[in-house]
Amino acid sequence: MANRIHHKIVIIGGGSAGIATASSMLKRRPSLDIAIVEPAEDHYYQPGWTMVGGGIFEAPATRRPMASVMPKAATWIREAAASFQPEDSQVTLSDGTVLGYDVLVVAPGIRLAWDRVDGLEQALGTNGVTSNYRYDLAPYTWELVRNLKSGRAIFSQPPMPIKCAGAPQKAMYLACDAWIERGILADIDVEFRNASGVLFGVKEYVPALRDYIENYGIDLKLNQTLVAVDGPARQAVFRTEAGEETVEFDMLHAVPPQVAPQFVADSPLANTESGFVDVDKFTLRHVRYPNVFGVGDAGSTPNAKTAAAARKQAPIVAVNALAALDAKQPVAEYDGYGSCPLTVERGKIVLAEFGYDGKLLPSFPKWVIDGTKPRKLSWLLKSEALPWIYWNGMLKGHEWMVKPHMGKAA
Ligand code: FAD
Repeated sequence: MANRIHHKIVIIGGGSAGIATASSMLKRRPSLDIAIVEPAEDHYYQPGWTMVGGGIFEAPATRRPMASVMPKAATWIREAAASFQPEDSQVTLSDGTVLGYDVLVVAPGIRLAWDRVDGLEQALGTNGVTSNYRYDLAPYTWELVRNLKSGRAIFSQPPMPIKCAGAPQKAMYLACDAWIERGILADIDVEFRNASGVLFGVKEYVPALRDYIENYGIDLKLNQTLVAVDGPARQAVFRTEAGEETVEFDMLHAVPPQVAPQFVADSPLANTESGFVDVDKFTLRHVRYPNVFGVGDAGSTPNAKTAAAARKQAPIVAVNALAALDAKQPVAEYDGYGSCPLTVERGKIVLAEFGYDGKLLPSFPKWVIDGTKPRKLSWLLKSEALPWIYWNGMLKGHEWMVKPHMGKAA
């Protein structure tokens, strides 16, 4: 018979959202029985990968051993979750262990579906094909940027949802800035081929980004989806409104399509349309199972999938999950906050911060940081402050500027 264990709180995933939520719960109840199911040996600060691809950070600065970020008071189960049986309040792990819970928090992130672009996975890491969406490849982005002298550089963006929707263009702006620095931008044809019909989803930030597109001389092509890559031939195929187009490249920065993790999509927890964990967009509680919560990229909420969103969501889930443990209703509400610091040049950032329905939610008054304009202070925030806040604040349960908002549900 399969091994069966039980913990009061079970969290699936020890990424940004899972660790932050566990720490926020333990701040409130230090002796709480929490198990975190996480197979990976390392934890990544993924927002740093844009900076690695831009030659600003070294890759190892974005990685720490999982053991070092696991809250000491939590039990780390080094396995992957394989399936959910929410009717019985249990999860089955990949080794067959059955894990029972009083309250479940689901946070396994989003799946990078490299396999949905023909030939992409095989092409990555050679022949000028790269992506900041992988730890091991972000340094290759910078290597390509440094070595390119002329030719065509293509930056692609897949259909939504993707994590950090600005990351495909951040890679491009930092590359253009480096090529200006070397005096060779005029010799490089830069193309941004974006599956979306707009440059960026929140209109207030578009004018500043458009200025950079123009100043760098970028050829902006909308409604174009990367469907195939042939690395050795240095050719990419895009589906456009007019049909398929094959383009030659010297450098291709590809961002993979992104979908719900398969074991979530296949489970009773899934939203029938998207496959993500089907949660109420304010309380983050599952719409059918009141003792289940979703947090981070794996949730069905229509916010920008970012670590910034996870930072805001984690205390809310902590408060509401503890209420569920006490057989009470949710008390805190999420406003959809997410943030995307767009690295428009080395030293300046357009700091997009917004919530549900594109409502601007700036953290600072306009006279300190006007997020719609490129600012040096925003760069300092991303390059200096945010990594420190991530490792020492968010992952440790310090809720600086993200204390839960007790809303209508209270
Ligand atoms: P993750 O941090 O991805 O963690 C998921 C965890 O779940 C992983 O540890 C994984 O091993 C584990 N897991 C997966 N499957 C299972 C399973 N079956 N069982 C148990 N565990 C499992 N955000 C920002 O706020 N600002 C930025 O500037 C920014 N830039 C980005 C740039 C890039 C290139 C990328 C890739 C991301 C960027 N992000 C940014 C997005 C941010 O990193 C994610 O939104 C954030 O990490 C989401 O946290 P998460 O915990 O939901 O997922």
